Amino acid sequence: MEYLVEARNLSKRYGSFVALKKVNISIKKGDIYGLIGDNGAGKTTFLKMICGQSFPSEGEITLFGAHQQGEQEKRRKRTGVIVELPGFYPQLTIAQNMEYYRIQKGIPGKGVVEKVLKTTGLWEVRKKKGKALSLGMKQRLGLAIALMGEPELLILDEPINGLDPSGIIEMRNLLKKLNQEKNMTIIISSHILSELEQLATMYGFLDKGQLLEEISASNLHEKCGNYLEIVVSDTEKYTALLEKHIKKVQYLVLPDKTIHIFQPEQEIEKYSQLASENGIGIRTIMLKQKTLEDYYMNLKKEGRK
Ligand code: ATP
Repeated sequence: MEYLVEARNLSKRYGSFVALKKVNISIKKGDIYGLIGDNGAGKTTFLKMICGQSFPSEGEITLFGAHQQGEQEKRRKRTGVIVELPGFYPQLTIAQNMEYYRIQKGIPGKGVVEKVLKTTGLWEVRKKKGKALSLGMKQRLGLAIALMGEPELLILDEPINGLDPSGIIEMRNLLKKLNQEKNMTIIISSHILSELEQLATMYGFLDKGQLLEEISASNLHEKCGNYLEIVVSDTEKYTALLEKHIKKVQYLVLPDKTIHIFQPEQEIEKYSQLASENGIGIRTIMLKQKTLEDYYMNLKKEGRK
């Protein structure tokens, strides 16, 4: 398995404040890794360490297989980064700003600017000045600059922050395309899980500097499956019947006696028949979906215990 980024027991302290605590994260080639966490969870701190803008207090980080600082520095050239929006020159146009960064990064060939501006949908507005850009355009310009060196690894800190709904869809499609067509590995942070829902292939949940869980998108969706919510007149009798008649039933009785049956069978009628045939009244029966947001909230609650 080829990992592009591996963090082992990574900690970061600012004085006595612990911003990251023994974090283990593994990012494979081809992943779109969604780093999820509230404000202050430590996302930017982690991303800065990958970028060499900050250094671990303890633990280590391996980048493209390199452990040593000097060796990592060389390999970082394969990385495109937007951790903080780059400073744009307000008096220069988009195209001029791009040209400035192309020269600064030492990327040969003027054609690359046109190519990247077309990829990011900025070609039509290339003559707009830096000071006249909307937030969405600034985000895209940041991305365009990061893409200029054709990086293998792209690191984006909250790129969706401040985008309108169509901007979010555009950004998502663009990142998917880069991932699929160029096999670009992408690390993307957000404090809103649903923003990354149709994008990320792996998730890492950070909370107060700790990694709560690392999970693949497919496992996460499996865990967020359907459940049946039932309230009956006699909970004990009903759950006994469930265990007797429904194979491998998985359920939970909440304190208010609501029953949650996880991954219920296709024929939902079975559950109401079981009650009516045994003289149990049904007050409510509803098929529900546990959302990713529910899952995340619960994870945080469990993690803080
Ligand atoms: P946000 O979504 O707000 O950007 P984040 O998850 O990126 O949050 P970080 O920027 O990594 O969070 O910050 C984690 C914690 O570390 C915060 O409490 C922050 O105040 C603290 N912190 C970050 N940089 C420094 C610093 N240079 N000195 C002291 N504390 C810092």
